[in-house]
Amino acid sequence: MAIDTLPPLRDVIAAHELRARKSLGQNFLLDLNLTAKIARAAGDLGGADVLEVGPGPGGLTRGLLAEGARKVLAVEKDTRCLPALAEIAAAYPGRLEVVNGDALELDPLAHLTPPIKVVANLPYNVGTELLVRWLTPAAWPPTWSSLTLMFQREVAQRIVAAPGSKAYGRLALLAQWRTRPRIVMDLPPEAFTPAPKVRSAVVHLEALPEPRFPADPKVLERVVAAGFNQRRKMLRASLKGLAPHIEEVLESVGIDPTARAETLSLEQFCALARALQR
Ligand code: SAM
Repeated sequence: MAIDTLPPLRDVIAAHELRARKSLGQNFLLDLNLTAKIARAAGDLGGADVLEVGPGPGGLTRGLLAEGARKVLAVEKDTRCLPALAEIAAAYPGRLEVVNGDALELDPLAHLTPPIKVVANLPYNVGTELLVRWLTPAAWPPTWSSLTLMFQREVAQRIVAAPGSKAYGRLALLAQWRTRPRIVMDLPPEAFTPAPKVRSAVVHLEALPEPRFPADPKVLERVVAAGFNQRRKMLRASLKGLAPHIEEVLESVGIDPTARAETLSLEQFCALARALQR
């Protein structure tokens, strides 16, 4: 069954001559059943404002509106997409606002009313940069309640990785400290037009009311960065720039100074950040 009365996305793309541009990371989702499924992965949208970054021709936007979002604020860099998005806005009066701009240069969250959900199928480099920004606001809890984002599968695995795995690192610790991240969908390259070279995955991150373990965000960030910048080195070497007697600090919280960052749990990283601050 059609999710709305608007034309199929292939027709929209042909009518507005939206040939995908590599420079903008454009790989479009044309199956509206799939975009509705991604919208549902964001949870109950009724009563929530949604920030969508990079709507393109609007497949996911239509999914979000059909699934009942109170309001969608869509930020798109490519002016060619605006007429197609205006048609969607006309079909859902008062519920879709489109901003033409670069999501890295504006703070659209400031224009929305909580509860706010963020949903996006973005170019992968932009997605990772925005994810890090959304995970490191000045205050916690953040203004958003959840993020539902498409990533290259390998990046998605880094977000949910457990200690001891190759994918475990800064992104896992940053995400798992203050959110509950889960991979909720796997997508093959053929789901997109044009098809990218790699598989993709949708990650859903629920903001926790407070961090899992206490730690100062800046100190924790420094410890994690130092530990993983030289991930093959023992902690006593990779962290030696952080404190004059780093071996003693590590031992004071029960961490073996010859261990490597990739074996430390989130709880141990937080304990180390607290000890360093003392
Ligand atoms: N959401 C659409 C879909 O699922 O079919 C389009 C996805 S496509 C992977 C990424 C979209 O993000 C493109 O429409 C592109 O123009 C837009 N985009 C790229 N960089 C952007 C940025 N910095 N700010 C806002 N939009 C951006």
